[in-house]
Amino acid sequence: AECYCAKIIRGGRISAPEMKVPSNSRIVMLLGQLERMNGEAMVRDVETARQVTTKILHLIQTQEKSGKEVMSKGSSGMEVILASLEVSSQTTLEFLCISIVTDLGRRMGVFVSKGGTGILFQILTSASKELPPSEELMLQLHSLLAKVGPKDRKFGVKARLSGALNVTISLIKQNLQNAKLLLPCLQVLRVYSANSVNAISLGKNGVVELMFKIIAPYSKKNTSLLKVALDALGALLKSKTNARRAVDGSHVPALLALYLDWHRNDARHRHMLIRKGLLVCLRNITNIKLGRKAFIEADGMRILYNTSTECLPVRTLDPLINTSSLIMRKCFPKNRLPVPTIKSAFHYQLPHVLPVGPVAQLYSQPPGVDDVVDDSDDNEETEAETDTDNEEDEKNDDIETDLNKLHPTKSPGRPFEELRVYERFFLELSEDFQVTVNYNILFLQGYNFEGSKGASSTPSSGSLSSSSSSARSTRPIIVPTAQALSPKHMATPASQEIWNSIKGQHTQPPSPLLLGDIATRRVGGGGSDCGSEGAEDEGGEGAVLEVPDTALLLPLHDPDLYVEMVKGTRSVPQYAEVAYPDYFGHVAPTFKEPHLERVYGVQRSKIFQDIERLIHPNDILDKVVYDLDIPSCPVIEDSGESLKFNSQFESGNLRKAIQVRKYEYDLVLNSDINSNHYHQWFYLEVSGMRVGTTYRFNIINCEKSNSQFNYGMQVLMYSVQEAISGRPRWVRTGTDICYYKNHFARSSIAAGGQKGKSYFTLTFSTTFSHKDDVCYFAYHYPYTYSTLKMHLAKLEALRTPHIYLRQDVLCETLGGNICPLLTITAMPESNSNDHICQFRNRPLIFLSARVHPGETNASWVMKGTLEFLMGTSPLAASLREAYIFKIVPMLNPDGVINGNHRCSLSGEDLNRQWQNPNPELHPTIYHTKSLLQYLAHIQRAPLVFCDYHGHSRKKNVFMYGCSVKETVWQSNISATSSDLHEDLGYRTLPKILSQIAPAFSMASCSFVVERSKEATARVVVWREIGVQRSYTMESTLCGCDQGKYKGLQIGTRELEEMGAQFCVALLRLKRLTGLRNHQHLLDLESDIIGTQSKVVSPTTYVMEEDEPSFLEAIDYSAESDNEDAEPENEHGNNVHENPDHLDQLSDSY
Ligand SMILES: [Zn+2]
Repeated sequence: AECYCAKIIRGGRISAPEMKVPSNSRIVMLLGQLERMNGEAMVRDVETARQVTTKILHLIQTQEKSGKEVMSKGSSGMEVILASLEVSSQTTLEFLCISIVTDLGRRMGVFVSKGGTGILFQILTSASKELPPSEELMLQLHSLLAKVGPKDRKFGVKARLSGALNVTISLIKQNLQNAKLLLPCLQVLRVYSANSVNAISLGKNGVVELMFKIIAPYSKKNTSLLKVALDALGALLKSKTNARRAVDGSHVPALLALYLDWHRNDARHRHMLIRKGLLVCLRNITNIKLGRKAFIEADGMRILYNTSTECLPVRTLDPLINTSSLIMRKCFPKNRLPVPTIKSAFHYQLPHVLPVGPVAQLYSQPPGVDDVVDDSDDNEETEAETDTDNEEDEKNDDIETDLNKLHPTKSPGRPFEELRVYERFFLELSEDFQVTVNYNILFLQGYNFEGSKGASSTPSSGSLSSSSSSARSTRPIIVPTAQALSPKHMATPASQEIWNSIKGQHTQPPSPLLLGDIATRRVGGGGSDCGSEGAEDEGGEGAVLEVPDTALLLPLHDPDLYVEMVKGTRSVPQYAEVAYPDYFGHVAPTFKEPHLERVYGVQRSKIFQDIERLIHPNDILDKVVYDLDIPSCPVIEDSGESLKFNSQFESGNLRKAIQVRKYEYDLVLNSDINSNHYHQWFYLEVSGMRVGTTYRFNIINCEKSNSQFNYGMQVLMYSVQEAISGRPRWVRTGTDICYYKNHFARSSIAAGGQKGKSYFTLTFSTTFSHKDDVCYFAYHYPYTYSTLKMHLAKLEALRTPHIYLRQDVLCETLGGNICPLLTITAMPESNSNDHICQFRNRPLIFLSARVHPGETNASWVMKGTLEFLMGTSPLAASLREAYIFKIVPMLNPDGVINGNHRCSLSGEDLNRQWQNPNPELHPTIYHTKSLLQYLAHIQRAPLVFCDYHGHSRKKNVFMYGCSVKETVWQSNISATSSDLHEDLGYRTLPKILSQIAPAFSMASCSFVVERSKEATARVVVWREIGVQRSYTMESTLCGCDQGKYKGLQIGTRELEEMGAQFCVALLRLKRLTGLRNHQHLLDLESDIIGTQSKVVSPTTYVMEEDEPSFLEAIDYSAESDNEDAEPENEHGNNVHENPDHLDQLSDSY
């Protein structure tokens, strides 16, 4: 017979010299004897062979040492036994060999790697042809196979191809009463079934029905058999055809009844695994729609809800509760998101719509079409079987592998004649300082400075104020928001005086619209803690609203100036209100805000509360208290039994608030303008709360598949009562926070064509500590466009004769707002030629931020950068002398103003437009890119380009850069060494940052060029403008897990510090690059900053979040594949979504 042994022997693997066991060992001698008998001799002398084998078996059984010798590395013992197995035709000998192998159980891996599985199947099929087959041999073989199976990845395929599948099935069918033989057969079947092709074929052969026969009815007679049968059935039911079979056979009610039986009769919880096995069957059946339907019809929700509730007190039953919860979440009937359309409540008419793309789709949608739900969950069709053994090699296909694209090729871009107009933004490059020029002209034309007071107004501003008055909005501005006012606190005669006394410096009252409202605002009730210093304090009966005196704490904040700025800000909804936090300002708290520890089982209890909506529908109020789709009156008045909501102010985006239960609210966020999705950011106002009551809030239409809210991040809250008590600040708030997939259906229109998707819920609970307070909740520290304008105006006040600061208007946005461009450097030391030459020739640094409106942290980092650059420190002075800074602090003003999360008014992600920005639709990107193209043309491309972003799924601050070498390393494409010749300068800046900025983490940086990012600022500036140090800097929304801030949530202080440290790092970079002429830069860099001249460990490319998984599955559709794992691990798997989708929602910038 052609055989393995021959091959093995010819392959020389069992030649004597390789035997490493001591040659005098008895077992080695016996093996040697057996080896010499292999082939002809064995057939001739079965008796001797048997004797030898028996001796070997005896030795293995009695001496542990012998077993080790047979199996030890380098020993050929296993080959000899295998060879004997294969050659022999004698049942008894086989039996003995199998016994030997069985006894070597712990080294089954060796057996598998030597081809043992195939030999066993061969013996099995040939033995099955004997009539009747030897029961003893079958038992032995299956026992051994059951051990081999889990060690052999190809076990299922080998079984099918050898015909062993059918042998085992017919054995099972013929031995249903023979538990001794049945058990190992079922154990083997369990392994067979894990292969999807096998599962289908087994199902066709009636094995699903067979298993149901074995597991029912309830009996504790043979529980180990039952357990194995359930495991096999569970594996079989992963196949959708089999699941359908189970539904058709009415097994869903039967399984539920059986589960109930076990639940009731297993009082001491000794049969957890059987109960769990039953749930796994239900879980797999409910993967298909028919299964979910059958589950609901069989009252599965109530059964699992009740049993789970009864299990709750026993911690060891958690796996049952978690699997039950998973099934219930899946079967929970999909609800409609309670909005008429998912299109933004506001629409902005674009000058034109590109023929393809999301906006065109949105516009072309016929009226009356329901886009909130579609039939995407109604079709069973897509549940076809995939008839392949999927060995998915998870290759990341997003890495750029086209070498041509990996080599930065400066693209000429627009012709220089066109770019010449941008010269006016670079006056410093031609400045001769012979005439005094007022650089504020451009800036002031676009800004509205009228009304700004004090040191902030430069002498020139007054003369220019008339030019801005035309742009000034005539609509009334209400400060603060009106809805929070309770009617009984209307104007009193005293209030005007109080106002004047507080704002004593005013000689004339501000405009009545503005003042009238502020003066009449009272925050009633007068908690004793809101002490006011005003002489006119009326006592405990209700303090008049005061503006906290934050001038010292917040030198760059001015409430009046802020209101003036709001007047010049154009929003699509024409906001007429100002939110208190933006008006009062935010003073970072001095206490630490550690990550919130996740309470055990928090998500489960929240989900159970959600399920109760279905179980106890009468408890649900479903009362709409705020609805932006009623434009005339979104705030719905009521008798005071509900909270009041509002977000009709800059960056606000609440669309609807529904009181679900007495102290629980569902909140729906508005889509980005001209879009039907992108919601994650939120900013809203709440009032009318009761003190000491815990409220639960659920934001029910979040889109990202995971969030740092699951890893210690809290929401931000701002209390007006606290503010007027001298603590104007956002604080991290909320308990019982978690983020999970919910039961609100997401139509395929909103899910990028993917069907059957759901939204995610962010839930948090909070208790309010002041009566009649007005509180705000936000995703992250708000930073509005009007705030930016106020800060820029205040920056003027920091100007000294040594600082060259110019504020230009780069362009106007679609929404009619201006996009500021700042130039900061040092004035030349003198008018001498040398000094002017040095001034003009300073390298440029180009910075931008806030292309994504929801990433407000980027603005706080930018604020830190700007204030540092305008500062008086010697470092700042050196920095200004070293570089010319060109800064676009807000690339997407319209998005910020209108409360968008990601897009501009064009309904598009502006950071995907850099390759080919449209001047009309993406003006800020078009003109920013043009500035860079102009610089490239005049050979003055910036030394560093950095775009500030925020990251919602990672901790720390880190950078993304572009490196050919590191991309090639990650992608395995073959490249010549010249392709890999690369200056390592791109690593210097992040390396410096990791040394000086506590929040910065080098380990999180990546320098891989991804295809999905080829139209981002970073990649385009690197590739087309030729800036080697082109970066995205990502700041966490959550906090740090390394460095000085480890374990803490990030605050504005840390973000601003990051912005300042970025500047310090640039100064260090200057020292290093200043030595470029010395030709030893690389060596020097590596000496100084500890980078070797070749990168020893390239940064790893991590596409998804890198948080450890936890017990509770965020997404119930993410099924775990490791059925054999410990039950506790079952829910550990994280979501793996399709990359397109990820890209769409990724905030990785
Ligand atoms: Zn971003």
